[in-house]
This record gives sequence, C-alpha cells and structure tokens, in this order.
Amino acid sequence: SYVGIHSTGFRDFLLKPELLRAITDCGFEHPSEVQQVCIPQSVLGTDVLCQAKSGLGKTAVFVLTTLQQVDPVAGEVSVLVMCHTRELAYQIKNEYARFSKYMPQVRTAVFYGGTPMQKDIEVLKNKDQHPHIIVATPGRLNALVRDKYLRLGSVKVFVLDECDKMLEQIDMRRDVQEIFRATPQQKQVMMFSATLSQDVRPICKKFMQNPLEIYVDDETKLTLHGLQQYYIKLEEQEKNRKLNELLDQLEFNQVIIFVKSTLRANELNRLLNECNFPSIAVHSGVSQEERIARYKQFKEFNKRICVATDVFGRGIDIERINLAINYDLPSDPDTYLHRVGRAGRFGTKGLSISFVSSKEDAEVMDKIMERFEVSLDPFPEDGIDAST
Ligand code: ADP
Ligand code: MG
Repeated sequence: SYVGIHSTGFRDFLLKPELLRAITDCGFEHPSEVQQVCIPQSVLGTDVLCQAKSGLGKTAVFVLTTLQQVDPVAGEVSVLVMCHTRELAYQIKNEYARFSKYMPQVRTAVFYGGTPMQKDIEVLKNKDQHPHIIVATPGRLNALVRDKYLRLGSVKVFVLDECDKMLEQIDMRRDVQEIFRATPQQKQVMMFSATLSQDVRPICKKFMQNPLEIYVDDETKLTLHGLQQYYIKLEEQEKNRKLNELLDQLEFNQVIIFVKSTLRANELNRLLNECNFPSIAVHSGVSQEERIARYKQFKEFNKRICVATDVFGRGIDIERINLAINYDLPSDPDTYLHRVGRAGRFGTKGLSISFVSSKEDAEVMDKIMERFEVSLDPFPEDGIDAST
C-alpha cells in the first residue's frame, strides 16, 4: 500500500497494538471523517459532543477510545455506555466484544430491562465476573444503582449514544441524571447522535466541561449520498398491495419496513408471511428474549424482511439492509432521517420508499424536503432499474 500522505490510518491514533489488530480483523481500513476528528481528542480524555450523519461510525469512536483508556481493576466499573433501546445496547456490547478480542482481561456486560434483574445481580456480585465496561439502558441501570447492586464511584467515562433521544424523553432523562449523579465529578463525558437540535445542545453540555463540539449545522449535509429516496402517494387501503408489488419487484438484500404501532407490526407481519414473504416483526410487544432473538435472526441474515416500529428506527446497524420502507410515515423529520439511515450504512448504496397517504403525511414530507433540501421524487410507476 501507499505511504499515507493523503489519508490517515488507524495507526496514526497511536492505539494499543491489541486494538489495532482487532481493527484490522474487523476489516476497517480507513477511519471515517468523524473518527478522524473525534478519536485523537477523545483518547486524551476530552469531553465530546458529536453530531455526525448516520452510518459513518460513531460507535467505533467511543468503543475504541474507551478500550484504549480502560485500566481494568477487579470489581470496578470504569466505563458506562447508555443508549435508548435494548437491541442497541446489545449491539454496542457486541461491538465491544469485537474490538476487545485481544484484551481478554477487559470484561464488558450489558444490562437492560425486560429480563430478570437477578441475572444482572449475579454478574455484579461475583468479583471475577464484575464488568469494567457496562452498556445499558437507563431504566435497568438506575434500578441496579438505586438498589445498591452497582457502585459507580470508579467510573471514568460516561457515554450517551442517541443522546438527543435519551435527554428529550422525560423518564429516560431522569434516569440518566440520577445515574450521572452517582458517578464521580471528574470523568470524561461523550455524547453522540445524528440529530442534535439547537434546543438539545445546551442540555447535553450541562453534563460536560469544555467539550469538543462537532455539529452538522448545515442540515442538508445530513443526507446520505448513497441513498436514493422516493415517495409514493396512495390511499391507506392500497398500502398492502403496493408493498407486495415492491417486494416482488425490487432486488433488495434486506428490507426494513417501518410502521407506527405494535399492532400494525403484528398484522403486517402476519400478512406478509401469508403472502410468502418470510418476515419477522420487532417491536415492544414481544418478550425481551424474543426481541433479541429476532434482532439476531435479522442481523445474521436468516430473515430478509423485518417489520419494525421505531424501536429499530435508530442506531441499529445491519449491513445488508439496502431498502427502508416507511409503510407509515413518521410524524417528524428527525425520525425519518434516522429510519432511512438504516439503509446505506457506511457509504453503501441504499433505497428508501415512503408511503404518503394523508394530509398529515404530505405535510411531514414537505418538512423533510425543506429541512434536508432533498428532492424526493415520486417512485416511478414502472419501478427502477434493478442495477442501481
Ligand atoms: P453510526 O453510529 O454513526 O450511525 P455505526 O457506528 O453504527 O454508525 O457504523 C456503521 C457501520 O460502519 C458499522 O457496520 C461499522 O462496523 C462500520 N464502520 C465504522 N467505521 C468504519 C471504518 N472506519 N471502516 C469500515 N467500516 C466502518
Ligand atoms: Mg450509532
């Protein structure tokens, strides 16, 4: 390969050799822009508030830099990572597993609700199992702290992924604040999202000291260039037939179909299966164990079609998704941006199609186009060239 005159390599970050080996094993060759900007400061312990568009590797920023800094002490947790859904927590835990492959002394655990708390307690009671890094959803984590199963006096890094979501939702924000207060004053704080409105930034910064602030202030730059975005105007009762047609017509690897409720997810999933489109449904109405099992099935390519509510709208990274369908359009542009961002990860090509069936939908569609300055075209009647 060429001597790196133009491009930075992961080597330039002076990471531990055991991390560099894992990075190579993961097939990462060049750091993305957000990684180039954040990693050098983040490894020095600087607070980071980072907005960067979806699919460009925000996870690796905090996973690599916390692994770089972690000094595993038995019985002490030094890194806390929180996010808004259980599947995302599970996914982030797996990222830690990938990158800490050559750091066997570092233990990571994941805690989230909907599972027996006793299991988490066992892990925390056993000194040999006690994690150094915890990935969690705030409700369960706070319960463990409140009931004194977990002490946070040794926490050195505090990370929030999808931070806007976590701080905008009142109950989640309360848990985050309580957990924050249980950690030492001196620590590094890092927060990440693809969407950071002017309103939420000061809220984030209240947790930080002189953070490195990375924003995408020109919201038009949040658009994914590899993603072709279309809409289809139709009546509510035409949605199923249209969906059927699209799934027949389009050559996709994996597709995620977003609906607005658990009930609709179940119904649509049943319908698809009846029409010989083997699909799975992921939403908050199934048991937690089953939710993770379905997430795995989809991630491991055992199913190609997933019907989901917004529990899968953010953060979820499934490489082969190249088609995202908004069967029900979300009510705001941010949710739209996160959802369609599930297709076209890390600069790959993707397609999104949104059903527009009401006056409200049409208004949301206008807002989306205005805000991100994307021109969404009507989906061509005769489909699109399969090769694109
Ligand atoms: P974000 O959180 O910014 O939406 P993710 O952290 O989920 O994005 O990363 C999206 C995908 O890109 C993941 O599958 C990840 O493994 C991959 N990825 C991240 N950084 C790199 C890199 N430097 N080179 C190759 N792939 C990468
Ligand atoms: Mg992410």
